[in-house]
Amino acid sequence: MSTIEPGDHKAWMRLALSLAEQSPPKPSNYRVGAVLIDDEAHEVLATGYTLELPGNTHAEQCCLMKLAEKHGVPQDRLKEVLPTNMILYTTVEPCSKRLSGNLPCVERVLALAGSLRTIYVGVFEPETFVTNTGRKTLEGAGVAVVHVGGLEEGILSVATAGHVGEG
Ligand code: ZN
Repeated sequence: MSTIEPGDHKAWMRLALSLAEQSPPKPSNYRVGAVLIDDEAHEVLATGYTLELPGNTHAEQCCLMKLAEKHGVPQDRLKEVLPTNMILYTTVEPCSKRLSGNLPCVERVLALAGSLRTIYVGVFEPETFVTNTGRKTLEGAGVAVVHVGGLEEGILSVATAGHVGEG
């Protein structure tokens, strides 16, 4: 599916950013892109971006919803059907709180702890809307959160494209 080399984190992050660009601009959320990878088979398992699926959906959430649909399991049983050595690239770190009351992406990816080994993030979540406490929670569960530098400017300009009075 891809010619990106395993371990070329910046190239994978660029792919996530290209997904974020497909997200419709809105004043009240970040346009984020995410790619979930099987780090053993070096396969893309799913891609997603903010508002890709109906509802107030986030990028990571869309990845997991698509996989649940594909495997015909509820999202809380995804771990049973997914590979055991996965990594996630996301342009903005997974949210730990949602004003809408939806399940935060940190909770969703925590359900994959043990199988999901590392989350590579392009930028840590700007704390405009909520304070992100997810990083510690994830690391406590054995999911490493690693910053991939060098694309921050592009990521933030895409993320906030619909925001009034910014960029
Ligand atoms: Zn989220």
